[in-house]
Amino acid sequence: MSKKLNLISLGCAKNLVDSEILLGGLKEQEVEIVDNPENADSIVINTCGFLDIAREESVDAILQAVELKKVGSVQELVVMGCLSERYPNELKKEIPEVDRFFGSNDHRLIASFLTGKEYSKDDPLFYRSLMTPSHYAYLKIAEGCDNACTFCSIPIMRGKQKSRSISAIMNEAERLVDDGVKELLVIAQDTTSYGWDLPGKEYLDTLIKELNTLGKGLEWIRIHYAHPAHLNQKIINVMADSQKVCHYLDMPVQHASDAILKSMKRGLDQNGIKDRIKRLRSAIPDIRIRTTLITGFPGESNHDYLALKEFVEEIEFDRLGIFTYSEEDDTTAANLDDNVPRQVKDDRRNELLDIQNEISLKKNEELIGKNISVLIDETGESVSVARTEYDSPEVDNIVRLDGSHPVGSFVDVVVNDANEYELFANKIL
Ligand code: SF4
Repeated sequence: MSKKLNLISLGCAKNLVDSEILLGGLKEQEVEIVDNPENADSIVINTCGFLDIAREESVDAILQAVELKKVGSVQELVVMGCLSERYPNELKKEIPEVDRFFGSNDHRLIASFLTGKEYSKDDPLFYRSLMTPSHYAYLKIAEGCDNACTFCSIPIMRGKQKSRSISAIMNEAERLVDDGVKELLVIAQDTTSYGWDLPGKEYLDTLIKELNTLGKGLEWIRIHYAHPAHLNQKIINVMADSQKVCHYLDMPVQHASDAILKSMKRGLDQNGIKDRIKRLRSAIPDIRIRTTLITGFPGESNHDYLALKEFVEEIEFDRLGIFTYSEEDDTTAANLDDNVPRQVKDDRRNELLDIQNEISLKKNEELIGKNISVLIDETGESVSVARTEYDSPEVDNIVRLDGSHPVGSFVDVVVNDANEYELFANKIL
């Protein structure tokens, strides 16, 4: 009787791709994948170790699985990913009920442990079994990061940047498109430094050009995790010239005060960020820019915060996520005095979110009466949920569309209403 396994994937899209690779390998060995952990013999938890809230969520998921093991419904519990990559010994000591802890790049070892089948490290990595809806997929082009942002623990957990070869990425992308994927979301820790660690001068612009040649079925290529200091005109031009590349860019800038950007080791100042945004908006006038900011970084004075607030008001990002600074062990910033009170961190974040709500509402209302093409992500009897090319799954705006429409299909609609984070539309008849 085949093993029933439940896989809980936490954290970012890069972690999700790791989960999908493991799932692909397990399915090859006829392991039955079940959605409900209570129906599973084995549970695998792919953890996140990025911020305190993410670590708490990972530990909670492990402890819930331990409870299932205690009542005997689960026989085997495996933990993988960034948290166990980072704290294997502490976790082993604190949660001895877990059968094995693995890192974030141990797909074959985990598959061997769970199925008994031996794999050599030269065996090709498993072809992914998608955990996203089948019409879109994340495409991880590199692992690790060579940047040294002082607040970030990712290089500690994921190591130095390792770019995949263009041929390996194209092989995977072709197979995903053959399997019905219409949208590829290009991810890494820093997509704009793709290829810097590879022999030969093939960087992100070359890769985008290649991906843009992919044929039947692929409509959207979406670029995430651009580092503003590494975004050059070549990349911008190829984005502008590539028919399948969405007029969208996720480019975390983290802050806008020159003093804080320096203390964060972001490699450019506010004017540098503004220059990148200006060049993006001039090359692709309708581009939507998503960014991420941190409030309450050590030493963030009221003056620094006002510089950030004025920047948000001036630039008017299209999509914005804001985190409060959390001190991460062994990062450079952990040596700094975390002197911004919790309440102040939260107040600054909330004030910026209020400003962004107004900006988002204004920009969405400008779309009322406009015709746009949307991709259907979910459908019900009377309403469907979709996205425009300006919106990434899970993090950006959605379109609520009257009527039931096939998931994964593109529909031309007219927008008839909007709020801060949603558009309401009808199919154009
Ligand atoms: S670019 Fe900076 S913030 Fe992003 S993963 Fe690398 S070190 Fe962390």
